[in-house]
Amino acid sequence: MNKSYTTDIIIVGAGIVGLTLACLLEKKTNYRVILVDREQRLLRHRVSAINTLTTSLWKTIGIWKNMDLSPYEHVRVWDHCGASLGFDAEYSENEPLGWVVQDQQVHDALLLTLHNSSTVRLLLGEDGVEILQDTEQVHLKTQETFIHGRYLIACDGSCSWVREHLSFPLMQWSYEHTAITAHVILEKSHCQTAWQNFTQHGPLAFLPLSDTHQASIVWSTSPEYATALYALDEDAFIKELLFASEGRFGKILRIGPRYTFPLMMRHVNQYVKDRVILCGDAAHTVHPLAGQGLNLAMHDIVELLDAFVLIEKNHHHRRFLRYYERSRKTANWEMIALLECIKRLYEVKCPETKVLINKAVVCLDSSRVIKSLIKKWITT
Ligand SMILES: Cc1cc2nc3c(=O)[nH]c(=O)nc-3n(C[C@H](O)[C@H](O)[C@H](O)COP(=O)(O)OP(=O)(O)OC[C@H]3O[C@@H](n4cnc5c(N)ncnc54)[C@H](O)[C@@H]3O)c2cc1C
Repeated sequence: MNKSYTTDIIIVGAGIVGLTLACLLEKKTNYRVILVDREQRLLRHRVSAINTLTTSLWKTIGIWKNMDLSPYEHVRVWDHCGASLGFDAEYSENEPLGWVVQDQQVHDALLLTLHNSSTVRLLLGEDGVEILQDTEQVHLKTQETFIHGRYLIACDGSCSWVREHLSFPLMQWSYEHTAITAHVILEKSHCQTAWQNFTQHGPLAFLPLSDTHQASIVWSTSPEYATALYALDEDAFIKELLFASEGRFGKILRIGPRYTFPLMMRHVNQYVKDRVILCGDAAHTVHPLAGQGLNLAMHDIVELLDAFVLIEKNHHHRRFLRYYERSRKTANWEMIALLECIKRLYEVKCPETKVLINKAVVCLDSSRVIKSLIKKWITT
């Protein structure tokens, strides 16, 4: 016999997005929430570069103080033809450009916050099987339970089961890249800088960790080259990495386990279907070359919280959820377009066009006004 629960909001997916949303709903509203995830314990092997908005949300929740953070003061982007672009923190603002955090640590801290909650119930190890909707409620069936709620928010990631199950219209294309990630130990300090080299094999980022001689790499490259890189032994991989990083960090002394992620652009044409709402990677996935996926999701969360605060007072859920959809759709599309442009510009093969692009990058690097606009866009 299935257990049955009644709640206000059902969240499917207890990744960083689902957990952050649940913690903020608990802090800012009176909704009862049930958070469901098919995994009992999720292991995350990545780090994320995060911006000011993301940090402010985690400060509100209260998980910020105990984290092993790596703030970075500079961003340096260059390509194999020599053009480079740099951003620096303003000392007057007393804030770094961003932080690098361990996804596992954030996940565990958010989960811990919810363990003592009186309004959020966690159901881990429960896989969604069916969703039914009527005019008043949405019902989620898992193998073990039947949950009745007023709204269901899907935070179940890039291959969202909710999105597929309810046939949300989706636009998608392959970036024809697979990302390889790993922790590396460097001979020289990373100098609290996030580095990105657009190599001939695709963008290679070195994200600084709290030990100044350690970084996390994200190398986005063709699936064929990624397969070849993954198969290399440690010494041979280090050799490739040394060549691609142009020796900027001296020797690469050690490398941890490697993980691969096929990269797709995905964006739904509709964020809301009656009482079901998509959020985070369930609604959009982007190329990691600017480290924006999670940061975009945090903007979704802010808009969604605003909508739910208004729904609590006015009950006009259609109207407020439409606002959410409209504002996030536009902002997320802007980022998708920007990332597509950057990726394509660095993939140009024609030498004449390449010269023009390099000249444009040099001009951009010397323009304080345009650079400060870009900086604002990617750091807030
Ligand atoms: C290589 C790489 C590097 C990145 N670097 C950055 C970065 O530096 N900065 C940044 O901002 N972003 C970055 N991103 C993007 C970021 O990692 C994602 O945007 C973020 O992890 C999405 O979180 P999420 O909670 O939406 O999804 P997920 O982390 O995928 O969580 C989804 C959850 O849903 C659960 N679930 C799935 N299906 C079901 C179901 N049927 N029933 C119940 N539960 C279910 C899963 O178990 C999981 O816990 C990067 C992405 C990649 C691939």
